[in-house]
Amino acid sequence: MITRFAPSPTGPLHLGHAYSALYAFDLAQKNGGEFVLRIEDIDQSRARLEWENQIYDDLTWLGLNWRLPVLRQSERLGEYRKSLKSLENLGVLYNCECNRRDIQEATNAPQEGAPITGPDGIVYPGTCREKNRGADINYDLPIRLDASTALDIVSKPLSWCDNYLKTMDKGLFLKSIGDVVLSRKDMGTSYHLSVVFDDAYQNVTDVVRGEDLAEATAIHVLLQQLLDLPTPTYHHHRLIRDDQGKRLAKRDDARAIAAYRNAGAGPSDIRRMVGLPEAP
Ligand code: GLU
Repeated sequence: MITRFAPSPTGPLHLGHAYSALYAFDLAQKNGGEFVLRIEDIDQSRARLEWENQIYDDLTWLGLNWRLPVLRQSERLGEYRKSLKSLENLGVLYNCECNRRDIQEATNAPQEGAPITGPDGIVYPGTCREKNRGADINYDLPIRLDASTALDIVSKPLSWCDNYLKTMDKGLFLKSIGDVVLSRKDMGTSYHLSVVFDDAYQNVTDVVRGEDLAEATAIHVLLQQLLDLPTPTYHHHRLIRDDQGKRLAKRDDARAIAAYRNAGAGPSDIRRMVGLPEAP
């Protein structure tokens, strides 16, 4: 078993991150497996080295350890480009320069009904799909997945194990998720593409993450099938919420692990706060 924690260094880690990291670490320990750490810093406009260093500090303080060197996604852009090329060869990509307003306007037409929101916002209405079908891919521009063509290519059902076996059919995928962005401008990749590619590269067998990301899993399974990568087991866990029941955000500095540390709490206090037993 290999589990992982994959934070983005865009702010302090809070109790929700501590829960996810400890959950993944404990799961690997209990099964005689390994826990790996990955820094998801593809958004260079928001990632900061100081937050990355704080992540190492906080996790070490919590009692976690991991193999070195740590994989940093910003160093793997060339690899992501290669996987985009394989997808281009399958004929499942197209360029799309629609901005949020274009998408909103296209979905606001009275005959369209209320726009449906998927894991990445409003489900894309497909404006550029017909326009750019068959054209060469420009890697300097945003790229979307042609989900309908992609789902026709894969031969297995989209299923994965997340406590129990889940499956999503083509109709539901197109309606609730649609053509997601696989490469953003100035990034050369996207969360979906790099997370799938790197979970496979690091041989992750069990993905532990918050249930806010559960909706995106069907996209990840589709990409795994297109790129011929294994599908790990998923463990989407409950979210840690504040006293008002709102999920914690990066800017919630009051619940930052560092704030509890500075106030004199210890790692077992953090475990107790998030409802985890003592270290195995
Ligand atoms: N990097 C993502 C985040 O910080 C998590 C990725 C994942 O667990 O799939 O929200």
